[in-house]
Amino acid sequence: MNLEEIKQCAPGEIKACKDAKALEAIRVKYLGRKGELTAALRTLKDLSQPKRRSVGQRANKLKNELELLLEGRLREFARESSQYKETIDITAPGKRVRLGHLHPLTKIGREAKQIFSSMGFAVMDGPEIETEYYNFDALNIPPNHPARDLWDTFWLRQNETKNQRPKTKNTERLLLRTHTSPVQIRYMETHEPPFQIIVPGRVFRYEATDASHEINFYQIEGLMVSKTVSLANFKYVVESFFKQLFNRAVNIRLRPSYFPFVEPGIEVDVSCTRCSGWGCSICKQTGWLEVMGAGMVHPHVFEAAHYNPRDWQGFAFGMGLDRIAMLKYNIPDIRLFYSGDLRFIRQF
Ligand SMILES: [Zn+2]
Repeated sequence: MNLEEIKQCAPGEIKACKDAKALEAIRVKYLGRKGELTAALRTLKDLSQPKRRSVGQRANKLKNELELLLEGRLREFARESSQYKETIDITAPGKRVRLGHLHPLTKIGREAKQIFSSMGFAVMDGPEIETEYYNFDALNIPPNHPARDLWDTFWLRQNETKNQRPKTKNTERLLLRTHTSPVQIRYMETHEPPFQIIVPGRVFRYEATDASHEINFYQIEGLMVSKTVSLANFKYVVESFFKQLFNRAVNIRLRPSYFPFVEPGIEVDVSCTRCSGWGCSICKQTGWLEVMGAGMVHPHVFEAAHYNPRDWQGFAFGMGLDRIAMLKYNIPDIRLFYSGDLRFIRQF
């Protein structure tokens, strides 16, 4: 083929190509090492000097033209295939949108709040970062109490020096609250009895985790203060609460116990929700489940809140929401709540 023939055939062939593979074949046919145009260029050396120049220029011009045409066609193919990808197939089946839903701890927390609200309890909130005073001192927990130990409490690092801190009880050593009880003091400091409150919230313990221990969990704290409130009132309140929460009749058992902020202190058991007292693996064959600690508010706690303990009396209780949720939903391991495992969460 001479240059004229190439100029006539090649553009039409490039245009007629259907895909990139055919296009490559055309490129090899004309511009490849053994291509027509390459061969034509090779014959230049046989021509006379002036002719060589003009033919050489024409051949190079043709080579550039063909390269541009090839490139253009290749771009067309790319555009066509990407257009194909962007097409929406309206007949394809849709993707199901999964709705989010509430975490079991959120559910049980809301249920508990709703039950206590129906009995006239107000719902209160407090800070998760507490001072040593509110978390321990004001609650009659002595300075040498093991709960203050480095291994039970998350103490926060203090950056300021002592002189920079204003000298009030609010700026003592800071910690992550180990229970929701500090809110009792905060509430009593600003309110006059009679009142009844619950305090749901997150608490922190510095301890090794296992099936029943986590470094953070949720508590509900309760406090009822008036001139006459007694443990009989308390027993009625918790019995009604568990009856509604577990949606079945339950028996309540009170056992003497010790907590620094109450006197007397009691441990509350409910009859096992699975075996109704006959004995099973959940209640370790005892028929009873430990669900909360409680007691009558210690006079020192009232004094810390500037109440006269001779004028007022009240009960306080605290329970782990995680434990209650584990009992209600039959969950074997507390760590599942915080695992973020959707296979677990989706069951609720
Ligand atoms: Zn049982």
